[in-house]
Amino acid sequence: MAVVMKGSEVANAMKEKMIKEVEALKAKGIAPTLGIVRLGARPDDLAYEKGAVKRCETVGIGSKVFEYPEKITQAELIDEINKINADKTIHGILLFRPLPKHIDENVIKYVISPQKDIDCLNPVNVAKVFEGDESGFAPCTPTAVVEMLDFYNISLEGKRVVVVGRSLVVGKPLAMMLLKKNATVTICHTRTRNLQETCRNAEILIAAAGKAKMVTGDFIPKGGVVVDVGINLDENGNLCGDVDYQAAEGIASHITPVPGGVGTVTSSVLAKHVIKAASAF
Ligand code: NDP
Repeated sequence: MAVVMKGSEVANAMKEKMIKEVEALKAKGIAPTLGIVRLGARPDDLAYEKGAVKRCETVGIGSKVFEYPEKITQAELIDEINKINADKTIHGILLFRPLPKHIDENVIKYVISPQKDIDCLNPVNVAKVFEGDESGFAPCTPTAVVEMLDFYNISLEGKRVVVVGRSLVVGKPLAMMLLKKNATVTICHTRTRNLQETCRNAEILIAAAGKAKMVTGDFIPKGGVVVDVGINLDENGNLCGDVDYQAAEGIASHITPVPGGVGTVTSSVLAKHVIKAASAF
């Protein structure tokens, strides 16, 4: 049976380190604070917000929610974000997406200050990920994947890693981060031919397709590491990943569960990024 890579174990290890870092910052008169920008009150956003606020709280990071009506105009939103950019008591900004249709994310992404852009929305930070420059902020979910592999001592050096998914939120930046760690990375997507075979030949398989249980036993590398980034609902309305967990656990050497895997680490990475932003103040 595969070793289960638990998000809670990774998050706990990160927590201890972060508590000390926050204490050190507070001793210097800096109280790290997350600013959450939310338009309207979508249940998904509220659930993520609750988790992020709680995770920050447990390590001593403050948070402030900036809630605006869904009907806010683009110009008003730009003004509000500029005010938060200038606010010295807020160190990191998390903007919930998708934005309402009348607001152009391609405009807004440039407005968030790169120094406060803790989830890598601003193209300056995206470019840094592609350049292998770690001075910016990589997106939280790909960073959570790297944190998990690192915690479980899974080396990436020279490994054949297959990433299924090429979104700018997960697949593409993750591939760049793995490349930076000297993995040999293959990125797969809906037009990939021989997907099963490509996945099966990986040493580390990372699924970020957003398709419930599409990675069946036939995709799983024997004795390989399987990381499941997907968060989906199955036919019974239960949370599940992209990987057929039951099939995979008998084939892989390591596997992340859903829920309780990558998603659990993502909010810890967010907290870590607030500390990084506050440290640069
Ligand atoms: P997107 O829908 O933006 O991208 C999905 C990617 O997967 C696309 O590149 C798509 O290819 C590819 N893909 C979809 N179906 C297949 C298939 N059958 N075969 C091969 N490739 C396929 O999703 P996101 O990247 O935003 O998210 C991916 C998953 O990760 C979702 O389940 C999401 O909920 C989850 N997620 C989890 C987070 C966490 O904290 N754990 C945070 C963010 C997301 P193509 O480009 O060709 O269309």
